[in-house]
Amino acid sequence: MDISAAYIEERFQHFNSLCFEGKLVLPPIRLSRSRRALGQVRCMRSRRLDGMWKFCNFDFAISELLAKSMDEQQVDDTILHEMIHYYILSNQMHDTSAHGVLFKREMNRINRAFYRHITITHPAMDEEQSNEDINDKRKNVVAVLRLRDGRWGAMAVARTRVWEFWDLLESIPDVMQTHWFISCHPFFSHFPRRTTLKYHPMDSTDLIDKLGDACLLMRKDGRIVVSKCDIKTLIR
Ligand SMILES: [Zn+2]
Repeated sequence: MDISAAYIEERFQHFNSLCFEGKLVLPPIRLSRSRRALGQVRCMRSRRLDGMWKFCNFDFAISELLAKSMDEQQVDDTILHEMIHYYILSNQMHDTSAHGVLFKREMNRINRAFYRHITITHPAMDEEQSNEDINDKRKNVVAVLRLRDGRWGAMAVARTRVWEFWDLLESIPDVMQTHWFISCHPFFSHFPRRTTLKYHPMDSTDLIDKLGDACLLMRKDGRIVVSKCDIKTLIR
């Protein structure tokens, strides 16, 4: 069918009140000329202090080219599919993958309650490539150790062990100093998540390179808080 931005907007508002209690804020709607993506929710993302992403500046697109080969029901299901992405992102929720647990939960809820046929992928078509990388980076808690002999080391620590290791590392005479970070750099995802003390030797240049966009963790009033830091002032 032929679609227009006005049509998409009207359907968006209809499904917003029907399926999302009218809680979604209407984003800018546009028609795309994509031959690969039926629809797309784009947004900007920035790092919050706690290391999670903040999503903002959304836009919402449906491909007018691909819509030509779809009927009304398929176009509406595509709009709903993109609205689920938008619902998740605009509520600053973090799904387990591009179509993870949260997405499937919403999709199943809407399909059941409103007799829709929303699917995760359209047959023989990719979509929303730009959303794919949003959640696949694993965040690692990384302890960086400075040893008395001047060497550096790092270890990825299992979250359940952070408090324990924090105290433990401070009590080891060979360890002069420990800095704690939360990092999205894939480098640390290759490390085993340590539940026993064993570090990976690294030099300071490499640490600065790998931890350039990491956030520093600090202990404050019995909590671990995240703060911005300039890695170069800590490691030299
Ligand atoms: Zn999708």
